[in-house]
Amino acid sequence: MLTSEKTAHNSFEDFTISHYRTILKTAKENFIFRSYRELFQFEQGIVWRHDGDFSLNRCLKIAKIEKDSDIKATYFLNLHSEFYNLMEREQFQIVQQILALGHSVGIHLDLAFYNPITTTELCDAIELEISFFKNHLGVEPEVFSFHNPTQFALTTFVEDTYCNLVNCYSQTFWQKVAYCSDSNGYWRFKRLLDFLKNNTASHLQVLTHPGMWQDTPLAPMERILRCIHGRSANVLDIYYETLQSSGRMNLGGPLEDFEFLKALDPQLHMTLQLLLLHKKYSQLAVIFLNLHFEWLVEFTSIPTSQTENIQNISKQFYNQYNVSWLDICQTNLAEYNTNAGKTHNTHETHIYRYFLHISKLLFIWHSESYNAKNV
Ligand SMILES: [Zn+2]
Repeated sequence: MLTSEKTAHNSFEDFTISHYRTILKTAKENFIFRSYRELFQFEQGIVWRHDGDFSLNRCLKIAKIEKDSDIKATYFLNLHSEFYNLMEREQFQIVQQILALGHSVGIHLDLAFYNPITTTELCDAIELEISFFKNHLGVEPEVFSFHNPTQFALTTFVEDTYCNLVNCYSQTFWQKVAYCSDSNGYWRFKRLLDFLKNNTASHLQVLTHPGMWQDTPLAPMERILRCIHGRSANVLDIYYETLQSSGRMNLGGPLEDFEFLKALDPQLHMTLQLLLLHKKYSQLAVIFLNLHFEWLVEFTSIPTSQTENIQNISKQFYNQYNVSWLDICQTNLAEYNTNAGKTHNTHETHIYRYFLHISKLLFIWHSESYNAKNV
């Protein structure tokens, strides 16, 4: 990273939804929002662009916030994305919702897929995508941007339009339009809010990637992982539902006891599912150990036979972390006895069931891997 890129204007707080609302308010106070097609027909204006690189679900979230502020943006969609599939029912519906909120969509052309060298090759690629947008999404795009633009593309494809579509990276844009982007989840050159506050340019273009904007402050890599894990958890859910609806067994999948967590704590549910899938048992155990106090209180009331299992797990898993599982349990047992007789609500009952279940699974898995190693 260049020294100039390390400057103080890179706070993770900048990439939260609440800060995004501040940005929209400031932009609205200072500029008139235009579409790409009409930008240069006016003396002044700003185009508001989103490259849907990481998550269409986050695009929809941002699209709704913009609707609340009565702002219209253009969402650039990539047919060749590794992060989403525009042919998929749910993702298709998300695009329709974004359009219904009054926003536009543009083509986010994946240069690595087509690798165009000549204008003809570029136009062939754009034409192909236009026909997909028309036939599948039911829209006629008026603009395109390059996904991961190469130096070659930026210096070769400099015309204002190709196939009658506005080129976001034309020479005219570079020369006449002030530009600010959140590329890779940090401000490379300038902070967007400052850019909007102190700008005398007549025409401006702002690019953000909705996947980089989350509810809480996170490092860019965490934001991307959240997009990836959110999607993979959703894919897993679809698979589970398919099995369930056709009355099939879900061998090796989570038992019913696990599923209550989805409503109580979706983030935790997702994290645990992924750890289970990837057989990260020790990480799972550590998360498990750190769970809320009530879980441990409930744990202490389990039958003796289960306690023996838990003690085994304790020995196997926690020695390496230098954590005394039993000490914690004993401490909480004392608390539990103090609170004995208190009515346990449904939430606690669920947690108790979950705790038993996950303990059993951890034990079984560990035994299996132990046996496999010692065969
Ligand atoms: Zn992109």
